[in-house]
Amino acid sequence: MSNAFYSVPTAVNEPIKSYAPGSPERIALLSVYKEMYAQKPIDIPMYIGSEKVRTSQKIAMAPPHDHKHVIGHFNRGDTGHVEKAIQSALEAKDAWSSLPWEHRASIFMKAAELLAGPFRDRMNAATMLAQSKNVMQAEIDAACEMIDFFRFNVYLMQEMYSNQPDSQPGIWNRMEYRPLEGFVFAISPFNFTSIAANLPAVAAMMGNTCVWKPSETQMYSAQVIMDLFHAAGLPEGVINLISVEGPVAGDVIFKHKEFAALHFTGSTSVFQQLWKKIGNNMEHYRVYPRIVGETGGKDFIMVHKSSDAAEVATALSRGSFEFQGQKCSAASRGYVPNNIWTEVKSILVEQVSSFKMGSPEDNTNFINAVIDERAFDKISAYITYCNDHKDAEIIVGGEFDKSQGYFISPTVVVTTDPKFRTMSEEIFGPVLTIYVYEADAFEETLDILDETSEYALTGSILSQDRYAIALATKKLENAAGNFYINDKCTGAVVGQQPFGGARGSGTNDKAGAAMNLLRWVQARTIKETFVPATDYPYPFLQK
Ligand code: NAD
Repeated sequence: MSNAFYSVPTAVNEPIKSYAPGSPERIALLSVYKEMYAQKPIDIPMYIGSEKVRTSQKIAMAPPHDHKHVIGHFNRGDTGHVEKAIQSALEAKDAWSSLPWEHRASIFMKAAELLAGPFRDRMNAATMLAQSKNVMQAEIDAACEMIDFFRFNVYLMQEMYSNQPDSQPGIWNRMEYRPLEGFVFAISPFNFTSIAANLPAVAAMMGNTCVWKPSETQMYSAQVIMDLFHAAGLPEGVINLISVEGPVAGDVIFKHKEFAALHFTGSTSVFQQLWKKIGNNMEHYRVYPRIVGETGGKDFIMVHKSSDAAEVATALSRGSFEFQGQKCSAASRGYVPNNIWTEVKSILVEQVSSFKMGSPEDNTNFINAVIDERAFDKISAYITYCNDHKDAEIIVGGEFDKSQGYFISPTVVVTTDPKFRTMSEEIFGPVLTIYVYEADAFEETLDILDETSEYALTGSILSQDRYAIALATKKLENAAGNFYINDKCTGAVVGQQPFGGARGSGTNDKAGAAMNLLRWVQARTIKETFVPATDYPYPFLQK
């Protein structure tokens, strides 16, 4: 039995490796990538309790930048597998939730160290290969952000447990932070390997057991995540990975009495459907389920007339096109004043035209492929829409080709209509739309920006004028959960810029922050009285 109050090491962000030419990390990572590309196709099972489950429904996986090259299969399951996964999570619950917290902390601290060391290349290479991220995009996501999630969440867990109520003389008040009753369902998106790992991991860290359904286009790195968890000592059954179609899994899970919480990241429309399903099934549940969702965005860069043109162009080009615009935080609408537009346009077009596009295996490629054919068709349809519309002009990009991989050139559209379709709808690809406004209409343009989309995830104000910065910060206070001043609107770092949006962008529970951890516990207050009363009359009852 432990008889001490332990403290975990202070969390620090994992340093980002440079992968400069000739560096040992570049040589090592590219060699693992090539090995994974060329190896015999792998067969990824579902992980249910102690079983690795395979089915007759094999779904092929291929790199988005090279879609005829099969790198493996995953096994699609059915409702029976969902039921087994729930059963397994429930069976694992007692032992896991009774394990002293320092052991849960150790497992995730160990996972962070394994990922910083022996697992780093494999996790990064899997993300490059199957999600088409370049070296740097893989490194900041699959290695650094995932490590940061584990380290910071462990630290925050300890802080939460040490947060105790005051006591008056003669009594002792205490607070326990118990895991939720039942199991947690984690549903993750394709675009961040770190988010995929964090959704089930943070709930498990707080003593819950989970059913995890990754995106089908992230299954390749999902297997590396399961290997990492097991190498770190996570007991079987704590996180059960199922590869079952979303609606099939949802039909079983959202009717289950022991369903305790949904931890979701993905599109707004899917999240809204799931919320409705949960609402319609309320009478089935033992508890009111927690619903935590980070969803879509229509992220903006608002530019004031005092801004420097090169800073504006660079914020737009980096903020919009890294990882092909498939970051939930990617800038996809810009508001640029007409006094600097000619200069901004010239630098922006020059920068975007110089981007190299191709496989992540070639480190000089800044842009890779979009995730799959469905995304390619959807994004290219938006480009065609812009081409067909008199209110829009494509000033760079606009080409797309899926013969070898799902490649879409980074595209900048200029519109004369601030409410144009591509100024308000999430495209989730390399398409940026810019509205050029009258330089003196800054305040009115802030109002237009605020009203134009249903989302409120990220946004930036670029300005050299402090009054303009203050005005934008106030007027746009509900337009973004992550607001940047003189920076692009992407690149949030765990522990520094807690991430999440409001309005249609989610419940804003800030992944990697204390607010998020609180969603996975239910507190029990305990009051102990040392010398209890022995008779009922209070003094006021006396004559
Ligand atoms: P998606 O909504 O298509 O899928 C997300 C997950 O939901 C996948 O695992 C999918 O299989 C599952 N799903 C789909 N329909 C379902 C259903 N009916 N029942 C149960 N599960 C279902 O999203 P995506 O294409 O994987 O990811 C891109 C989206 O995610 C974008 O909208 C992006 O903005 C958002 N995103 C948001 C954040 C954030 O922090 N706000 C982070 C990453 C991604």
